[in-house]
Amino acid sequence: MPAFRVDARDGLALARLDLPGESVNKITRSVRDELDALLTEWASDSRVRAVVLLSGKPDTFIAGADIDEFVRLSSVAEARELVRQGQALINRLADLGKPVVAAIHGACLGGGLEAALACTYRVATDHPKTVLGLPEVQLGILPAAGGCQRLPRLIGARAALDMILTGKTLPASRAGKAGVVDEVVHPAILETAASSVAARLADGWRPRRRAAGRGIAGFLMDRTPLGRRAVFALARRGVLRQTRGHYPAPLAALRAVAHGLAYGVEAGLEMEAALFAELAVGDVSRNLVRIFFATSALKKDPGVTGQAPPPRPVRNVAIIGAGFMGAAIGGVAVAQAGVDVRFRDTDLARVGQGLATARSILDERLKRRRITKFEHRRLTALLSGGTGFEGFGRADLVIEAVFEDLKVKHEVFRAAEAAVPDDCVLASNTSTIPIARVAEATRRPERVIGMHFFSPVQRMPLLEVIAPDRTAPETTVTAVAFGRRLGKTVIVVRDRPGFWVNRILAPYLNEAGRLLEEGLGIEALDAMMVTFGFPVGPLTLLDEVGLDVAAKSAEVLQQAFGDRMAPAKGVHRLREAGRLGRKNGLGFYQYRNGKRRGADRRVYDLLGAAPRAAVAPDEALARMVYAMLNEAALALDEGVVRSARDGDVGAVFGIGYPAFRGGPLRYLDSLGPARVAAELQRLERAWGERFRPAPLVLRLAETGGRFYANA
Ligand code: NAD
Repeated sequence: MPAFRVDARDGLALARLDLPGESVNKITRSVRDELDALLTEWASDSRVRAVVLLSGKPDTFIAGADIDEFVRLSSVAEARELVRQGQALINRLADLGKPVVAAIHGACLGGGLEAALACTYRVATDHPKTVLGLPEVQLGILPAAGGCQRLPRLIGARAALDMILTGKTLPASRAGKAGVVDEVVHPAILETAASSVAARLADGWRPRRRAAGRGIAGFLMDRTPLGRRAVFALARRGVLRQTRGHYPAPLAALRAVAHGLAYGVEAGLEMEAALFAELAVGDVSRNLVRIFFATSALKKDPGVTGQAPPPRPVRNVAIIGAGFMGAAIGGVAVAQAGVDVRFRDTDLARVGQGLATARSILDERLKRRRITKFEHRRLTALLSGGTGFEGFGRADLVIEAVFEDLKVKHEVFRAAEAAVPDDCVLASNTSTIPIARVAEATRRPERVIGMHFFSPVQRMPLLEVIAPDRTAPETTVTAVAFGRRLGKTVIVVRDRPGFWVNRILAPYLNEAGRLLEEGLGIEALDAMMVTFGFPVGPLTLLDEVGLDVAAKSAEVLQQAFGDRMAPAKGVHRLREAGRLGRKNGLGFYQYRNGKRRGADRRVYDLLGAAPRAAVAPDEALARMVYAMLNEAALALDEGVVRSARDGDVGAVFGIGYPAFRGGPLRYLDSLGPARVAAELQRLERAWGERFRPAPLVLRLAETGGRFYANA
């Protein structure tokens, strides 16, 4: 079945791309072949005066190139050849000799946008689903179908670099303002508007575009060699600050843009191809693509093995505890899933505060134009609350986020169960209490599950769903499906202390605490892990999480796993001295007016430690890194996560484990289990039993096995 359907109308060829058997359009080999043949036909057919490119999919124009094709590339030469062919095709589109109008509704990304950029004119719909961008760098590659050449020529180097180097997407309105598209219209008139402009173009009309780089500053920066050099230097510094040299793709893209502007399009295209080829077969891109595939696979994973029952439809959600977490969960539930949310808290002031917080999430979306004013009003009306259990009779799902106290949780679970329908799912957001214990208060433990959200809920992409043995599969699939509607990447984990994320985090944070006591400086310690690739260091993380919250988690883990998980004593002392982290302005760092300042040197006095040079940085790094790797292996072996894939995704999205390393288990594989086992044995001899290698690491070391068997 062909991917393009072409209708001829009034001298126009309306080509509609609808890739068979796929939910989105992507540029596959067959799409390229078909387009190639169509271009030949249009060029020679005198009845065709102009072409309009449309999509037959509801929410995508073209989502990008076919990633499956690029991961199969096995050599630099092969990758280069593939790109050169793609560029030749896009060049043919640009040089058709007849106007081509891209009529864009839905996602227009990567190769899709590059194709659109080669068109004569771009019309996009002002629909929230219409977004445009070149996200290639997020997969460790660069736009190599002319994107690094055409975009800067269209909108100026600065604006183009802003898109290309970050991979961010623009809604249609912003793309219109930036000049990426020529016209933004209502979805109902997309085809008419595109056809009429195609006809005018065929009659010889030419659009007047504002030159890239407006104003004097714009002219100097975008249109003069000296200005451009300054732009590139600035961009390069920005990239290095962001990536710390771990991600080569943005720098490569910068080079391709600069080269093209200096030496012309053809030289630029050659540079794109050469750089793409190197990146595409490199480790960083491979790891980023693996995480991307793992996330995509999780989007389709029902969360249970074997035949999965359908999830229960969730329309009404009740949230008990409208505090810090509950309010944010409610706000996200309304904003993302459009469900009815009913809060319950102990007094009206708290309910009011919770409603205000939830509403602020909607306000933020309105401000960012992610929703319209009308939607904002409609969604706000879905929020309600009270001190009783009114409205719980209609609840499909209850999420509990009260104080972290088993007695209180039991009380609310008992009361909620009496108020909700029999088949309502009861979820707890507890961080440290076993879900099976929470479930003890209910008559229907098969309906009870953990939904562990991370703070801030509106930004953190991960959700851990914790299913104790007695939980019914329908309960699990319902929680997983609902988490996904909230836009979360969901992993199903076992009901073991700390679940997955806090479990692997604990030994790492404990080790950081010990190193601090031994004399490593606060900033030096954090910088070490940022250089390793984490977004923030462990002490910054502790300040953000709160020392009280972290201590509680550490206590539970120590009880469960013994001395291996013993926290550093000093951190406990800091908490007793009233240091809770950012929330009370007293942590490892100083805070003034909500802004973080430098390290708080009083911490050293409280610890009786002074920063000194005696702690060897390499050894400190090894202790923190290997503590987490070993714990990840131990927890995987216990079945805390269902697979290495889930574990790595959880670490990347839950704690910002460096994605270019592919997650802790992938990283362990890349180091080699034998080498990791030997290093852990050395650390054990030097620092104690807590570094005893996980049996699974030893087994893999002996057998030459890997966590990921076939990669
Ligand atoms: P919080 O103190 O901000 O909120 C708790 C809310 O529950 C308060 O508004 C309180 O009035 C209310 N509450 C107490 N008893 C109640 C009852 N009987 N009925 C109704 N409401 C009641 O706490 P939080 O930080 O939002 O934590 C809530 C839960 O989320 C805890 O179980 C915690 O472990 C978990 N959690 C917290 C974080 C975090 O970063 N803070 C992260 C993940 C999970």
